[in-house]
Amino acid sequence: MEREHRHIQLEDYQQFIGAESVQRIRKKVRNLGHMHVVNVNSTYYGGGVAELLSSLTLLMNSIGIRTGWRMIQGSPDFFSITKKMHNALQGGKINLSRRKKKIYEEVIYENSIRNHLDQDMIIIHDPQPLPLITHYKKRVPWVWRCHIDLSNPDKELWNYLCQFIGKYDAMILSIKEYRKDCGIPQLFFMPAIDPFTIKNRELSEREINERLRHYNIPTDLPIIAQVSRFDRWKDPEGVIKAFKIARREVDATLVLLGNAALDDPEGEKIYHSLLKEREDRIIIISRDDTALVNALQRKAAVILQKSIREGFGLTVTEAMWKGTPVIGGNVGGIRYQIKDGVNGFLVSSVEEAAKRIITLLKNEKLRRRMGEKGKDTVRKHFLMSRLLEQYLDLFGSFEAVYRIKKGVLKPS
Ligand code: UDP
Repeated sequence: MEREHRHIQLEDYQQFIGAESVQRIRKKVRNLGHMHVVNVNSTYYGGGVAELLSSLTLLMNSIGIRTGWRMIQGSPDFFSITKKMHNALQGGKINLSRRKKKIYEEVIYENSIRNHLDQDMIIIHDPQPLPLITHYKKRVPWVWRCHIDLSNPDKELWNYLCQFIGKYDAMILSIKEYRKDCGIPQLFFMPAIDPFTIKNRELSEREINERLRHYNIPTDLPIIAQVSRFDRWKDPEGVIKAFKIARREVDATLVLLGNAALDDPEGEKIYHSLLKEREDRIIIISRDDTALVNALQRKAAVILQKSIREGFGLTVTEAMWKGTPVIGGNVGGIRYQIKDGVNGFLVSSVEEAAKRIITLLKNEKLRRRMGEKGKDTVRKHFLMSRLLEQYLDLFGSFEAVYRIKKGVLKPS
């Protein structure tokens, strides 16, 4: 049987951003239609980077820029080392031994052999594939896109990574607070969501309830939920503590939903450590089900994202888009999405989180008002069309340099 396949076009965004914005973006593509771009990261699913790339690469192709996505291969010990690096970049500790550096660099060298990167623009995401650049004769712009909270990185590790970062033409960070000097230009692109995916599209009440029923999630009491990889920086334990305090005053069900990312070996340990907290009203689910994420973010009375470090926090954006009020940790990119007391609440402790859960559960009007404001914030600032336009501007600026002095752009 013949089936029609269609992926999202820029014009589908017109209902949210208006015809003028669509035309402006279309105009920017005109001189770039010949370009071939490639993105490289370390996982095809799980976590915000994969989420972003799966939509952005399709949208770029649909407007006429050939855009690919490659994933590096790595052994478990490689990913254990890169996860330690990730933690240390976010303020944790690392013993940066010669053995670790050797495994990291060897695996990336091997990846450089089997990946032939000869496109017109190379975008490398996060620290895992960062050293790739050292193994190519650089003829085109290379950009390093770092999605991590870099407000307080381990100094020794940062100096080590800087030797690789310095070879790039530019680095893109999520917010200005992460600015770091490695001798190359820095740009700031906040992530964004695709409103048309299974995770974000509209759902009927029937579809929502069906998904929740499938996982035996009770709907008799208001639901408080956090949807996050099981990661210590997302503070799932703090969420449970805050819920227990709030429950002395308001009754509710807590749902922690998490999935695993291929490049995050710590998730399973953290998930298992939380299971002792399971009870009738504390439900902990480890599953990859994007329709469940959608249903939960819509059904919840309140979504928590009580992170203590957060590069950006797409789960915050996703919940706000669904009109659900969010209580977020007062850190990193969450602060750029939630305006405290206006479209959500920012909190810095378990006690504060508990207090805000109580406030919101007791006040339906406030929930609705904050939810509406949150949705509007996302419509104005955090849809994929905005991120697409930022990339087009970046490509355009490199194009201009190339046209004037072809081949002179930082040749190696
Ligand atoms: N996510 C998911 N299922 C889960 C937990 C998370 O699909 O059980 C998704 C979530 O919806 C979001 C992404 O993973 O799109 C997480 O991105 P975020 O920026 O919040 O955090 P990261 O994992 O990148 O640190």
